[in-house]
This record gives sequence, C-alpha cells and structure tokens, in this order.
Amino acid sequence: MIEGLQGKVVIVTGGGHGIGKAYCEGFTKSGSRVVVADIDGEAAEKVAADMGKLSEAGSMAVTVDVSDEESANQMVAKTVERFGRVDVLINNASIFATIPMSRGRIEEISIEEWDKLMSVNLKGVFLCCRAVLPQMRQQKSGKIVNIASGTALYGPPGRIHYVASKAGVMGFSRTLAREVGDDNIQVNILCPGSTLSEENPTEEILKMRQSNLGARALKRVQVPQDLVGGVLFMSSPLADFMTGQTLVVDGGQNMH
Ligand code: NAD
Repeated sequence: MIEGLQGKVVIVTGGGHGIGKAYCEGFTKSGSRVVVADIDGEAAEKVAADMGKLSEAGSMAVTVDVSDEESANQMVAKTVERFGRVDVLINNASIFATIPMSRGRIEEISIEEWDKLMSVNLKGVFLCCRAVLPQMRQQKSGKIVNIASGTALYGPPGRIHYVASKAGVMGFSRTLAREVGDDNIQVNILCPGSTLSEENPTEEILKMRQSNLGARALKRVQVPQDLVGGVLFMSSPLADFMTGQTLVVDGGQNMH
C-alpha cells in the first residue's frame, strides 16, 4: 500500500478490534511484520492469524494491558525476541468502544472512570513509549504515532475524561518529539473524526456516527479504512523529516 514499509516491525496496540485492526491490515499489505497487541488476547490472535493469511512477512499476537508497566515492557521484549527490532509503534489502544465509556456530562463521570480512562488512554501511551524507546534509541531510528481524537481540538460536550485524555496525548507527543529527535525518532499524532468502528453497530450508534455529517466538508460516515493512509504515511520514510505534528483525518470537520 505504501513504499518503504516492507519488512518493518510494527506494534499496533489495540489491534484486536475496530480501527486498530484496519491499521494491522494496512501494514500487512505494505509488507510489514505486524505485532497485534491487545488486552483482548483472543481477538489479537484472530487478527494475527488473518494477517498471516494476507502476507508471509510474519505477524504475532501479544496480550497486553498498556496501563501496566510490566505488561508494556513484555510486549516490546516479545517483539524484539521474535523480530529483532521495533521500527514503528502505533499507540492506538484506548477505552472507547470495545471497552465502552460513559458519554455523559462532567457531573456524571465517576472519579473511578476518570482514573481508569487516564490510566489506559494517557498513561498507557507513556508506558508503551517508555518501553519501546531503549530499542529505538539503540537502532538510532523509530517512528511513533499516537492516536488522539478530533474531540481534543473541537471540545464537544460530554465524555470530558476521554477528551482530556486525548488532549494529554497531544501535549505528551509534542514534548516527546523534542526529547527523542537527536536519536532520529519521529513522534506524530493522528486525530480521527467520529468513525464507525463498531463491529456490530446498533441503530443508536449508526445515528450517532451520522449526526455530525453537516459539520464536515466531506459529508459521509467515516470508516476505519479512511484512517489507514495517514498512519502508514507517518510511519514510513516519507515522513522522515516530520515530527511533533498533528494530522487530522475527519472529512474536513476540524481544519487544524
Ligand atoms: P475500540 O474501542 O474498538 O478499540 C480500542 C482497542 O483497544 C480495543 O481492541 C480494545 O480491546 C483495546 N484496549 C482497551 N484497553 C486496553 C488496554 N488496557 N491494553 C491494551 N489494549 C486495550 O476503538 P476504535 O474506535 O477502534 O478506536 C481506536 C482509536 O482511535 C482509539 O484510540 C480511539 O480513542 C481513537 N478514536 C476513535 C474514534 C472513533 O470515532 N471510532 C474517534 C477518534 C479517536
């Protein structure tokens, strides 16, 4: 699908479901060796097996809880043990749809849910980056793409914990980009718009995904495949001189 990704070793967290699965497919079709990392180990195994049917480059499933330091370190150790290096880390795992979050206003968000969301969506990115950096520094190369959200730019009412976690991912990524530039590691951000990523969407979800079409320049429902090109580009040598940047892929809702 994109030049320069052949043979690259790519970890996709949250690769077992939704948009992460589409990233795994995009990398596999580009000839990369994909590590499908998810807290849902069964789903990760299934995606890795499907990737094995698409390409002989090699894929692997890892069960990981990104909010746990030891688990994140093990994810990287298993990757290096199998493939010898890590070229790309896509921090995509999140509490969002597969593990749902409440979408209420501030008074309805429990402190417990706030903490849980921060620990997966924000601390998880911190832990996975920390786990992968020694290997990338040793290689003197690496690409990290952190998945934020258009909600962090627009600030819609509701799910304030989620929006705050994604705004945190953006600030985190910019500082990290400056900290690791000398090691030839690029860190960029992708902000998806509201995307129909649910495997079995209810009528209510379909309605929700259609509700913002009027705010977009391109008036159709966004699907996971819409996000793959941006992620592949930022992971490839085409983006070697691009770091700390935010790519918004939402059909022209936020013009950032
Ligand atoms: P999803 O909920 O289907 O996928 C998230 C994946 O992360 C799942 O496979 C889940 O099992 C995994 N996960 C959850 N907690 C984990 C943990 N502790 N450790 C490891 N894996 C864990 O959501 P999606 O719609 O596919 O979204 C993918 C990414 O895109 C997320 O970061 C989400 O916040 C972001 N995003 C989605 C949309 C959208 O409308 N779908 C919009 C903006 C941003």
